[in-house]
Amino acid sequence: MSAQPGAPDRTRFTPEELGFDPESLRAKYREERDRRLRPDGAAQYRRAAGEFGYYAADPYTARVERDAVHDRVEALVVGGGFGGLLTGARLRQAGLADIRMLDEAGDFGGTWYWNRYPGIHCDIESYSYLPLLEEVGYVPQWRYSPGEEIRQHAIAIAKHFDLYRDTLFHTRVTELRWDDDAAEWQVRTDRGDAFRARYIVVSSGTLTQPKLPGIPGIDTFRGHTFHTSRWDYGYTGGSPDGGLDRLADKKVGVVGTGATGIQVIPHLGRDAGQLYVFQRTPSSVDARGNRPTDPDWAASLKPGWQRERMANFLAIVTGGHVEHDLVGDGWTSTGRLQRQMLSGTVDTDLPAEEREYLDEIADFVKMNEIRARVGEVVTDPATAELLKPWYRYMCKRPTFSDFYLQTFNRPNVTLVDTADHGGITRMTENAVVVGDREYEVDCVVFATGFEVGVSGILSGTLPVYGRGGTPLLQSWQRGPKTLHGFYSHGFPNLFHLGPLQNASAVNFVHILQEQATHIGAVVAEARERDARYIEPTADAQEAWVATLRANARDTSAFLTECTPGYYNNEGKPRPAGNSFAPGPVVFHDLLRRWREEGGMDDVLVGA
Ligand code: NDP
Repeated sequence: MSAQPGAPDRTRFTPEELGFDPESLRAKYREERDRRLRPDGAAQYRRAAGEFGYYAADPYTARVERDAVHDRVEALVVGGGFGGLLTGARLRQAGLADIRMLDEAGDFGGTWYWNRYPGIHCDIESYSYLPLLEEVGYVPQWRYSPGEEIRQHAIAIAKHFDLYRDTLFHTRVTELRWDDDAAEWQVRTDRGDAFRARYIVVSSGTLTQPKLPGIPGIDTFRGHTFHTSRWDYGYTGGSPDGGLDRLADKKVGVVGTGATGIQVIPHLGRDAGQLYVFQRTPSSVDARGNRPTDPDWAASLKPGWQRERMANFLAIVTGGHVEHDLVGDGWTSTGRLQRQMLSGTVDTDLPAEEREYLDEIADFVKMNEIRARVGEVVTDPATAELLKPWYRYMCKRPTFSDFYLQTFNRPNVTLVDTADHGGITRMTENAVVVGDREYEVDCVVFATGFEVGVSGILSGTLPVYGRGGTPLLQSWQRGPKTLHGFYSHGFPNLFHLGPLQNASAVNFVHILQEQATHIGAVVAEARERDARYIEPTADAQEAWVATLRANARDTSAFLTECTPGYYNNEGKPRPAGNSFAPGPVVFHDLLRRWREEGGMDDVLVGA
């Protein structure tokens, strides 16, 4: 990564001054990345579909047979996670009476519906992450909420805004077709429903479909297996709070040490008779410091506190200036570093020496700190060495735990490093094999993550036909074309939520909240003006795509240096230009100005 123009020569910081040699660390990072690069890249994984479809089945809510629906609603919101709920809330506030929420899950919550593994917590501070706290009248009980508290909050939002009224759960949309005469959408689902909706909002998530490792022989294993996002408490006993009492006499293997693995493994280590942790790449694990909410602090909060806190957090983690860091945690202490890593830019207002330090040195210092912590916590030196992450900060999602590293000090827990073999070598009827060593197990838990961006419109799993029956993906043949990521010419009254041609940040719920607010405002204005269609002009859409390209920052050098993972498409970074590179703070301001300065004239048609 190059220094900023005007920054002094990087040799200013000598290895003697620093106490480490950046060049040898770079060489070590390259070596560790090369050990893990696989020619098959993202193709190494298997879909939890077809013969592996049972891995994605809903273990929490029984499917209930129901009659197909044939009616008309004003709005259909596809997706009952926070994006859908926030939009449902804003549409309700815009005056819409008939809103139908629909999800493949058995209830609201999205990712928090599916992920109920033991130890599940949000790794973003709850006071910023859980949306609409003030509207719903709730203050989370913990600084970092357990998953069940978050799921219950999703349900509370649905109740507060009366979004249960017309829901279709355990239902997947199979086709959206625009009827120009009626100016509404025809919707078909996998439950035989055929109904109409004036507006469609698609908020179907980004990391939704569980993926399995492409381990030879995975289908020959006769023991028990499941994915972390479909936890089998019937087999393990216990609950998301732990207490997996049925594992006491079991030998358990867990594959995956990402953000999920870090939360699950302390519970498996505590409760399983024997635990093998099959690791390919160690996570960077920083301290957490979770604590119950101080009731005096909660009582002292003034109206508007959450908006202020969210804005403060977003500004800091995207490298902006704020007077006070209101959150003060492991995310905000590395805000500038995150910006530098993810966008390749350093704040030009900083003094030259500070810029150079950020650009060339801060990353090594942070990762040295993370590696030193491993050595301090893990008592066996060989195990500690294997748990040290050798890559740049933000190559993988940073994680936080006060229990994970400690788990490897337990006598019943064995770390099995698989990096030299590209992961697990194979599975047999009763064992996991790494190289030529067999580990006999009763159960294997896959903490192996999710396919990226396979749900929703871009993936083709939800066919959409717009004006004249044109398929959306056909009109996007040369790349997606939207205005601000929300809507496309030729596809009236259809909104998308998500990072595409929009902005992104680590607190993604904040991004979704801004998106929902924008959609709510556009729909409210359309109703006010009695507009028949909400549809961007082709010119407005092209101008937005050109803006994205003009602002695009090539982060491929950073991503290519990184150890493989889903952040860099398993070592083959995707081209930049499909998100707004100046970041969410600038983007949200741009949207506000667009709304205030007559932007609606570009999208409201047929008044
Ligand atoms: P990840 O994709 O981050 O991790 C998958 C893990 O499986 C990696 O450790 C990977 O190793 C390992 N793996 C895959 N294939 C093999 C194999 N063949 N052999 C051995 N190991 C293998 O998934 P997660 O579910 O952990 O996290 C996904 C995302 O979900 C996070 O990045 C985050 O965005 C979100 N999340 C958020 C949380 C929150 O608190 N907000 C909590 C949990 C998840 P390798 O790294 O070598 O590929």
